[in-house]
Amino acid sequence: MDHVMSANNSPPPPPHRIAIIMSPEGRFLQCRDCHLTLSFPDGAQYVTVVLQFESHLCSSARSITSSV
Ligand SMILES: [Zn+2]
Repeated sequence: MDHVMSANNSPPPPPHRIAIIMSPEGRFLQCRDCHLTLSFPDGAQYVTVVLQFESHLCSSARSITSSV
């Protein structure tokens, strides 16, 4: 039996580049690429909020449309 699995390690999609935003309204996590913003309330775990990003595809893959 030569069940050879080709080492096709397809890399996962690029993760969001998450930045923490401190504002008077609270804390937010925002992706620098797709500008997806999720609230990061006090007491919430960072990982929990980050996992919510995972459910959204980062649109950084598409080329940036120059809107200048
Ligand atoms: Zn993103």
